[in-house]
Amino acid sequence: MTQQVMNIHLERLMETIRQSAEIGTLPNGGICRLSLTDEDKKMRDLFLQWMKECGLETRVDDFGNMYGRRKGKNNELTPVLAGSHLDTQPKGGKYDGVLGVFGALEVVRTLNDLGVETERPIEIVNFTNEEGARFQPAMLGSGAMAEVFKKQTTLNTKDQKGSVFSEELERIGYTGLKENRQQDPFCFLELHIEQGPVLEDRGKSVGVVTGIQGMTWLEATVTGRTSHTGTTPMNRRKDAVRLASKLIAKVYSLAEEVPDLLVAVGRFQAFPNVINTVADQAVFSIDIRHPEDHVRERFEKLLKETLSTMTLVERMDLQIKDIDKIGTDSFSEDIIEVMEEAAERHGYSYMRMLSGAGHDAKYLNRITPTALLFIPSINGLSHCEEEFSEARDIEKGVQVLFDTVLALANKETL
Ligand SMILES: [Zn+2]
Repeated sequence: MTQQVMNIHLERLMETIRQSAEIGTLPNGGICRLSLTDEDKKMRDLFLQWMKECGLETRVDDFGNMYGRRKGKNNELTPVLAGSHLDTQPKGGKYDGVLGVFGALEVVRTLNDLGVETERPIEIVNFTNEEGARFQPAMLGSGAMAEVFKKQTTLNTKDQKGSVFSEELERIGYTGLKENRQQDPFCFLELHIEQGPVLEDRGKSVGVVTGIQGMTWLEATVTGRTSHTGTTPMNRRKDAVRLASKLIAKVYSLAEEVPDLLVAVGRFQAFPNVINTVADQAVFSIDIRHPEDHVRERFEKLLKETLSTMTLVERMDLQIKDIDKIGTDSFSEDIIEVMEEAAERHGYSYMRMLSGAGHDAKYLNRITPTALLFIPSINGLSHCEEEFSEARDIEKGVQVLFDTVLALANKETL
């Protein structure tokens, strides 16, 4: 049997992305479309109209997540779900999130053009507040839908100005119903820009993401003693900043010995923070990431032991608090293979990779077989107005998404 050639319509997709970029436009070509603002509402209204124009049944859940359903031959079957987010960072680019939602819309439009019927229904989705720029934490809509976050906590979340999530949702007219959530999809697929330099450096068009890298966040507090900077001899001081600086240097030197380990001390505070007083307290964060959980955990243990010993020698005090720990999420091997077959069929260059950043796919992976696709970000730039991806890579990413949606929508089991 020869396979019918079914290609997505790149010009139509690029026109959709162009129209999206007109909502919340910034001077240098980026977008500011914070979640649940008037700009977000405008984008949602247009997306709703586009979904209706291609015959989708639309609905909104109690977190403002928007869905459009394309019927299958058997509507008792669970749907293939695909999408991402339409909110942006304050200085966001045109593609972050947008590509995943409009890529999924383009998949539906292409199926409509070709008159293709699938066994399963297909649903496309726009998740609320993925960026976490206005309401924290990030990925709030998908996390709440997957019940990682509690409903009431989510609805009561406030932005910096004190505006409440549920009130803002109501204000823009996107408070929906709990029964509209899609908590039992057959699978979830997300197409996203890489937001890093790996694909471009390796000369690949498509990244098949096997999982999201885990991380550990620690907070270290060094306690010494305050004293006068002019009268206390150096050997009589218990200078918390001096010890903290040695510990931080050690954090980095130990990390250098472990391949692929990423570490950063991104936050540092000295107390009482006075120019002529030796600090009695220094507090700093440690962010640790590695593709393999056991390597990250071994490093964390070694780090804690080493820093404690160094502190003991100086006869000061060190407390290390565990702030957060998230294991590596692994995506569905079955879906990964379907994506690789699609890339191969079209002759696209691709590679397997891990994601360093969180995405809606992370929380969907908790409730359904999930996979994530990347396309290159030029110079690895994202969360900035310069964010850019080549049209030819966008075409390849959406084509792989199309083939994957189609294959899975006709698949009995995963
Ligand atoms: Zn994103």
